[in-house]
Parts: sequence; structure tokens; C-alpha cells
Amino acid sequence: MQISTTLSSDLTSDERLAEILANPGFGLHFTDHMFLVEWTPETGWANARIEPYGPLSLDPATAVLHYAQEIFEGMKAYEHADGSVWSFRPEENAARMVRSSQRLALPELPVDDFVQAVDALVEVDRRWVPDATGEKSLYLRPFMIATEKFLGVRPSQHVTFLVIASPAGSYFKGGIKPVSLWLTENYTRAGRGGMGAAKTGGNYASSLVAQQQATSQGCDQVVFLDGQEGTYVEELGGMNMYFVFDDGTIVTPQTGTILEGITRASVIELAGKLGHHVVERRISIDEWRDGVTSGRITEIFACGTAAVITPVGSLKWDGGEVPAPASTVLTMQVRQALVDVQFGRAEDTFGWMHRI
Ligand code: PMP
Repeated sequence: MQISTTLSSDLTSDERLAEILANPGFGLHFTDHMFLVEWTPETGWANARIEPYGPLSLDPATAVLHYAQEIFEGMKAYEHADGSVWSFRPEENAARMVRSSQRLALPELPVDDFVQAVDALVEVDRRWVPDATGEKSLYLRPFMIATEKFLGVRPSQHVTFLVIASPAGSYFKGGIKPVSLWLTENYTRAGRGGMGAAKTGGNYASSLVAQQQATSQGCDQVVFLDGQEGTYVEELGGMNMYFVFDDGTIVTPQTGTILEGITRASVIELAGKLGHHVVERRISIDEWRDGVTSGRITEIFACGTAAVITPVGSLKWDGGEVPAPASTVLTMQVRQALVDVQFGRAEDTFGWMHRI
């Protein structure tokens, strides 16, 4: 893909940037540039470019604003001690975006073009990659939107793929703390034949009211159960789940209606290397409750790009609560192993890191 670049004439000053990078928060500040490429059936992907970051001009009849034909990805770039910059398994995010595009009737962006687009933006905005102290990183948000001006309900004939970037602080301020969970019994995030396995905005829109409930119950995150039987654990609003059993087995809910995380897949490989038996199967909410109560489940953790891995604390629902499992030893061991690879502090035995 040929990428043309127009540099911003209004770059963020060094002073302002230092201020932002000292305390970036999450999703608040954006780099000086963005990547765009457009698609039509006639041209295919065309006019790949990097431009100064700024508002898009969209006709009020633009398809995405009405029918939510949209997909996105979330990934990070990390600075290593020698000053080099790396992303974590970017081709997995690219491949997931291809799967999401198939579900949302959007055109497929080739994996190589996706990776090239992300690399090009990070290179142009290199000075926005925070140094690794405190596990800071540059969060990358590739996304694809239906940009045809047309109110008919059919796949858009004009599509735009963009990448924006935003420096991110550690998910955990003041140390790692277990997330408390709220079990929603009135809302599900996916059904058979639905969009649960795709990373599309509508799934997040539909999770917000459940998240509001969780917050009003004093919990950090929501647990969603399957939409068919309302029995099996699926995932959190933005993280996958893992259960550690007292015989050393680690269970993660099987896929189909959940969003398959890149972190989830990496944990399967890492835990295997650490000598654990990882099983993908259905796990019911009763097994969770009884397992923690009896001590058969010794640890529960959640994983995703934002927090990497976080211990799960108590689970609350309308009329009951189970406490946090007894231990976080394996959780913290897997977390450390993964973070060390991402920040270049451990050998990348799986070849997961991609140099930008
Ligand atoms: N499930 C959902 C619903 C998510 O939004 C995310 C974040 N992308 C995940 C799981 C974890 O995926 P990943 O490890 O690729 O960040």
C-alpha cells in the first residue's frame, strides 16, 4: 500500500506533550496525525494517507450514523529500554478485523495493509509513545466505518478505514486491585447468529445500561451470561475470563458468541508453557459460585489489552454475592510473564512482538 503523508503544521509542543505523557489517563489525548484509506467496489482500497489529526466531515445521511455498520480494534505500542518501539501481535488484530468485517458486510482490509497503516502512524507520531515507566503505552485504535451517503439498509458502497492513537497510562493506578463484578440477569451481549464474536460498536452500545447497573451496585464491571440459556459465563464488557482450578487446570469460556481476545489467546499459550492444562469449555454460573465456595476454584482473572490481566474479586447479583477466590498467585505470574514480553524485559519466545 502506497501511503502519502501530510505533516501537521501545528504539532503539539514539547512542553504540552511532556505534560500529557506524564499523566495520560486513557482515551483523552490524541496524537498529531491520523491514518485514512477509502474503499469503493470500483477502486478497492485507495488513497491511503496520513493527515493532521482532526474532525471528519460527514454528511448527516452517512450510513454509519444510522445503521452502525462499524468495526474497530484495540492494541498497543510499547517502548523498550533501548528506545525501540514494538506492537504486540498486530497481525492478530488485523485478522480479527477481517473476521469482524465479514460479519458486518464490510470490505476486508488485507492483514499486511492493516499492519503497515498502524506502523506508519506510530512512526510519524513516534514522540507520542510514552516511556515504559509505569507500564505506559500508546493505545492504537484502528476502525472502519460505512461512509456512503445513503439511507437504504444495505452494505455501504463507500467505506473508510482509519487509525488514531492515544497515549495510555497504566490501567491500575496505585497498584493492581481485583475487579468487582456485577452479574446481569436482564441483559445479554450476544445471541446465536448475532454479533458477539465481532468487535463492533453496537455490542458496546448494548453493554452500557448493564454497566450502569454494575456501577450503581458499587461494582467495577459486568459479567454477561449466554443469551440462549442464561446459564453459562461469557465475558465481561471488555475482557475475557479465566478460572483456575485446584488441580491446576485453567478453564476459559468457549467461543462462538464471545469476542476472542488476543490476550486470551496469548494466555492459552503462556499458561501451557508454564505447565498448565488449559481447557476451553462452557462454565456455568453455578460452577463459579460453588467452585469458589468449595475452594475448587482457586483463582479467577480477566484479561484484555487495556488491563492485560486483572484478578477478579467478588461477584454480586440481585440477591446474593460470592467472595473473591482465595489466591492470585498464578494470575500474577501469568500477568508478569506477559507484561515482561510486551515491554521487552523477557525473551519473546513466541515471536509475538512486532518491531515498528
Ligand atoms: N471481550 C471484549 C468484549 C472486548 O471488548 C475485549 C477488548 N478488545 C476483549 C474481550 C479482550 O480482547 P483483547 O485481549 O484482544 O484486548
